[in-house]
This record gives sequence, structure tokens and C-alpha cells, in this order.
Amino acid sequence: MKKIAVVGAGISGLSMANYLEKHNIDYHIYERRKKKDLAGHGFLIPQEGMEYLYQILDPDLLLQRGNFLKKYVQHSHTGKILAEKELNHVFAISRHSLIDLLTKNIPPEKITYGQTIIPDEQQNGKLQLSDGTVIDAEIAVISDGSRSRIRSSLFKDETMKVVRESEVVNIIQNKEIADSIENDFIKFHHEEGGLTFGILKFSADTILWYSQFDNEKYTINECSAENLKKYMLEVFESWHPLIPSILQKSDYKTVHLWRVYELEKLNPFYKGNTVFIGDAAHPLIPFTSQGVTSALKDSFTLTKRLVEEQNITEAFSKYEADRKSEIEVHINNGRILLNQFLLPLSQQSENILPISYK
Ligand SMILES: Cc1cc2nc3c(=O)[nH]c(=O)nc-3n(C[C@H](O)[C@H](O)[C@H](O)COP(=O)(O)OP(=O)(O)OC[C@H]3O[C@@H](n4cnc5c(N)ncnc54)[C@H](O)[C@@H]3O)c2cc1C
Repeated sequence: MKKIAVVGAGISGLSMANYLEKHNIDYHIYERRKKKDLAGHGFLIPQEGMEYLYQILDPDLLLQRGNFLKKYVQHSHTGKILAEKELNHVFAISRHSLIDLLTKNIPPEKITYGQTIIPDEQQNGKLQLSDGTVIDAEIAVISDGSRSRIRSSLFKDETMKVVRESEVVNIIQNKEIADSIENDFIKFHHEEGGLTFGILKFSADTILWYSQFDNEKYTINECSAENLKKYMLEVFESWHPLIPSILQKSDYKTVHLWRVYELEKLNPFYKGNTVFIGDAAHPLIPFTSQGVTSALKDSFTLTKRLVEEQNITEAFSKYEADRKSEIEVHINNGRILLNQFLLPLSQQSENILPISYK
């Protein structure tokens, strides 16, 4: 079997490595960040995604690091319950924990941290290390995220857009708050639309909170921890008291502001010996809660096709055929959920579950 270079050790690159490991296929991963350097947010993973994770991770280990949520409860910003929905095996886990678990099955010599891979503009399709050394691999699996530099160098006419929604996210340890929300996923919505605050629990004493905001209406720029705290407390001052109390107890040095990007139109998922998986192939907006599941399905399907097919192009083409139509459904659902979010609450469809299903 061919030697594979995997670029990026996020969920898609690491899950790809886990599947390759299972099939004894030779690979090496290159990751830009340092090993411990992980920005914080978390994932809702629907049941389908869990089934793919169980193939590569011990379910007991997963349960020690995350939590199954029982129901979704939608509130107005002052706390009136608007809708409730039972959740069917939706799991919540921090990005940090999931990356940590996915890394455990990879021999340390097969992953290089602190190495930004760049496309070699002279040698079409070749990749190189930052010192100019060309990577010797027959297949390049690109999993370098939604703003993939390698993708934009291969597909020069692609158009990326900033999505009209950004997120402020924080993970805090506080048993009192964790007890108060049980195992529910609760989300508060502003009557005028374009602003929400969600809370979910990772463990008995750890919660994640996040705010989604219309970035045309609320202009939060990269700013100091102190200014961000001031801004958040002002914006959510008159919301249900749980929210200002959580915002007071948060450590703003670890609060992250995430901008969201999407491709106007999807590119092919491969070119020559280079194939794209996860957000690098198809950025998905967070409303879908399908980024992780899609990344897992991409790496599972690509590995399967590489094992089955002798010819690389045939394997890539079947992988794309298997995956693209489903991704298009999630992109479309994401746009519907985004449009709903921007509308006043009175005009939104009832009981919007923030997960895209096929
Ligand atoms: C705020 C927020 C909330 C979200 N919530 C959910 C959710 O609830 N559920 C869900 O399923 N999804 C969610 N998502 C989406 C999810 O995070 C992504 O779909 C998923 O993490 C994609 O993983 P990835 O490995 O493809 O990309 P990434 O996680 O972006 O990983 C890319 C990796 O490549 C590395 N890299 C980049 N460039 C290079 C380079 N040139 N050389 C080497 N390495 C490089 C980066 O350092 C990074 O480690 C959310 C996203 C955001 C921003």
C-alpha cells in the first residue's frame, strides 16, 4: 500500500490516522500547532458520529471524558420555556478531550508537531515542510481545516465567505452550575433574533457555554480579556440570571471568539494525488453540529476506498461520490438554520433543534 502524508491533526486528520492504523497502512501526520496547544470549544455529536467513534475509541474512555445529553430546552432570553425535545444519544465533549483520545492510538513517531506544511507552487501537487524539504508521499490527505491553504492553492478560483454568525465559547469548572442544568442542553434566544446563549455539561463539574451572535449587529472584535468580559456582561445584563452569573464566573483568558467561514461553492474533493477530508473539503457551519460526524465519515470512507481500490484516482472518485451529496444536505440545512437564527423569535419555526439530520 502507498505511503500517505496527512496534513493537520484535528478531528479529521487524527481519525484518518486511527483508521489507517487499523488497516496497517503506512502514514505520517504533520501538524502546525504544538502538541499541547489546543484552543477551546466543544462538540455536540449525534448518535451516528458516536457509532464511527466507537470503531476507533473505547466507549468507556469516551464516557469518562464527555456526557450524553438528555433533552434540548429552548428558552426566551428571560427564561420562559419555549420548547423541549428529547435528545437521542447526543454526546457532548470538549475538542481538547476528543483530540487527546484520538491521539492515544497513534505511535508518537508517526506525528510531527510544530510543522506548517505548504504547497510547492513549482511542483504541482507536492507538499513541503517549512524549510523547503519536499514531502515524499504517494498520497496527500489534507485535513488542515476550513481555511485550507493547500485547497486554495489547488483551486485558485474558490470563494470563501465569512458567515454572518460568530461564537464566543468558554469551558468552566463549576459544580454548582453543572448541578443546576442536570444533563440538559439549554439555549436562550433573544426575542429579536441573532443572539443566543447555550449551556451544556461535559461532566459532573464542567460545563461549556457559548454565545452565537449576528456579527453584523454585534461587533465583537479580537480584544483584551477584560474588554470581552465587560462586553459580554453588558450584552447579557437583562437575560435570565443564570447567564450573567456564568459570565461572571468565567475566566476570560480562556474565552475564545470563533469566526465561521464557508465556501460559496464546494470544490472537487481531490486533485491528482491530493485528497481533502473534514472542514478542508467542506466547511460546515456550527449550527449543523455535523462537522465532527462528517469528518469521521470522510476518514472512514476514504480509508475503506483506499483499501478496496488498486487505483488511487478510482478510490478518490468513489470517496467523493459516497460523501458529497450528504455534505450538500448539511450545507443547505446549515443555511436554513442560520436564516432562522437571524429572524425574530416570533418568525422562527418552532422547536428548532440545532442539529442537521440527513
Ligand atoms: C465554535 C464552533 C463550534 C462547533 N461546534 C460543533 C459541534 O457542536 N459539533 C460538531 O460536530 N462540529 C462543531 N464544529 C465544527 C467542528 O469543529 C469541525 O467541523 C471539526 O473540528 C473539523 O475538524 P477538522 O479536523 O477537519 O479541522 P480542524 O479542527 O480545523 O483541524 C485542522 C488542523 O490542521 C492544522 N493545520 C492547519 N493548517 C496546517 C498546515 N498548513 N500544516 C499543518 N497543519 C495545519 C490545524 O492546526 C488544526 O489542528 C464547531 C466549530 C466551531 C468553530
